[in-house]
Amino acid sequence: MINYDGRLFRKAGGGDGTVAQYHQDGDLVWADFTGGKVRRGTVTGVCSPDGTLRLAYTMVLGTGEVISGHTVNVPQQRPDGRLVLREEWQRFGDHAASGVSYLEEVPTRPSVSERTGSVGMTGWDGLRDVVDGRLRLPGDDGFEERSRPFNERFRDVRPAAVLSVAGPDDVGRAIGWAREAGVPVVARGGGHSYAGNSVNRGLVLDLQDLDDVHVDPSTALVTVGGGARTRRIYDALREHDLVFPLGNSDDVGIGGLVLGGGVSVVSRAMGLTCDSLVSTDLVLADGSTVTCSETENPDLFWACRGGGGGNFGVNTSFTFQARPVPAASTCLVLWDWPHAMDVLTVMQEVMRLAPNAFSARIGVSRAAGQAGVVSVVGQHLGPAEELRELLAPALAAAPPSRVDIADRTYWEAADYLHHETAGGAFAVRTRCTPEPLSEDGLRTLVTAVDKWPGSANPDGAGAALFTWGGAINDVPVTETAFPHRDVLFLVSMDTAWLPDEAPEVVRGNLDWLHDLHRDMGEYATGASYVNFTDPDLDDWRAAYHGPNADRLAEVKRRYDPDRVFSFSQAI
Ligand SMILES: Cc1cc2nc3c(=O)[nH]c(=O)nc-3n(C[C@H](O)[C@H](O)[C@H](O)COP(=O)(O)OP(=O)(O)OC[C@H]3O[C@@H](n4cnc5c(N)ncnc54)[C@H](O)[C@@H]3O)c2cc1C
Repeated sequence: MINYDGRLFRKAGGGDGTVAQYHQDGDLVWADFTGGKVRRGTVTGVCSPDGTLRLAYTMVLGTGEVISGHTVNVPQQRPDGRLVLREEWQRFGDHAASGVSYLEEVPTRPSVSERTGSVGMTGWDGLRDVVDGRLRLPGDDGFEERSRPFNERFRDVRPAAVLSVAGPDDVGRAIGWAREAGVPVVARGGGHSYAGNSVNRGLVLDLQDLDDVHVDPSTALVTVGGGARTRRIYDALREHDLVFPLGNSDDVGIGGLVLGGGVSVVSRAMGLTCDSLVSTDLVLADGSTVTCSETENPDLFWACRGGGGGNFGVNTSFTFQARPVPAASTCLVLWDWPHAMDVLTVMQEVMRLAPNAFSARIGVSRAAGQAGVVSVVGQHLGPAEELRELLAPALAAAPPSRVDIADRTYWEAADYLHHETAGGAFAVRTRCTPEPLSEDGLRTLVTAVDKWPGSANPDGAGAALFTWGGAINDVPVTETAFPHRDVLFLVSMDTAWLPDEAPEVVRGNLDWLHDLHRDMGEYATGASYVNFTDPDLDDWRAAYHGPNADRLAEVKRRYDPDRVFSFSQAI
């Protein structure tokens, strides 16, 4: 994410001598400017996660005129790493006018890209010399694919280089090299972070090739490489009819998933992905490799179960305790929009009383130009007949437009529930609730979906109640770093747009989501799921980590005292 603090800007092309010095604290941005025709000027405003500034300004000219207005400044990066701001401005009052100007950054201190630029070919060659994996620079074949954030909201964040590590030794050497060169370094697993946390402007360690999966059928222990993706792991488990909780998107990486907890459609029966973790190997900030488990480096093991990816080191492998695969059935039921309140009300109650074998996502959503839809998508570790009985109150509450309830093998169920999003840019915000939402809470969700401002992304916007609880809540809050052990529903609110849509569309969508998240504060708690990473959260430490925040900070100080692994919401 762009930080404007300390940056200087002037009119593009050298300007008339007016220079503004910017400051930033969180999303608050302000600047003073003087020089040229301006005796004194100030701007104050806010910065969006994508770096767009919304500012109000006042200035006194040498002529004595006092001028005020507002601007929307969209950043672009020049090849040398400096920023250019495309500024749409509007003046108020006697001087009313509007237009577009460009501001360019004046070099003050070496930016990250200048530092990485100063690494030069010899520097990158120095890294190449000590690693076995392939180092890619911008323009190289595969550079984009191995560094692009899944969420295109952050597509402008591009690294200086990507190293596809060949093994744990590469990770250690690359971290050592990056520290020496002063280049920021970040691990990339599946690249699916909602907040683009696996890309930076320095060196990305692409773990994609660490994707071995070894299943020991005699112990049901499954060891997977730190960059393995869901599909690869499912395929290996399927051969042995063994299972541990995983999500249903092919390309989500195991690293991000398990380190932040990992919630699956079977978590009410089997716990979180991190609850099945028995050990993990990490390369630490000093380049050393450690194994951690309940008995070895237990504090680090504790933190790796739900504290969030990218904080303590680079995990190069994970070992899970799998179990025999159970039988399953699945449901997909849709209702027309007028039934939203009835279905939500009844389904909350159905899920409150449901056995742990049944889990469902209850959704309300809408794509542009279409009516809203109510959906229940779930899996039951039992026969379809039982599932139909469990759903009977909801089926009776309102006539569904589609009902698909069927027996499936576990693997057929995984394929059936498999989902990919349309991609593009998106934002997700979450809250938690330990009990069903009140009628007003539900109505707030439904009304918001009605009022969604729209975008061209076919995923549209919506809200979902993910049923948690069950085996997730059997684990005490402080036993692992994952703190949400008293939750019945994760309340997830999302919106999506296309990356090239107008800034007003993006702003409209983010404002809509912000307002909905704020309004739901009356009905749900401030707790938030670290893996549904929300770069706009204010008190993210408390929201993500709850009572485990202080202990996580201690573990961070112990294993990464120099904060080599750093990002905007790093512990
Ligand atoms: C389409 C989609 C479906 C999803 N489904 C689910 C779901 O069913 N259940 C659920 O709980 N979540 C789900 N998520 C959220 C998902 O768990 C998080 O986005 C997760 O962080 C993605 O992991 P990743 O490795 O793909 O992401 P990345 O962007 O590569 O990594 C995320 C963070 O983890 C760090 N990291 C990744 N690998 C490692 C490693 N080996 N060692 C150290 N740090 C590492 C990165 O540095 C970054 O900080 C989904 C997300 C998407 C986009």
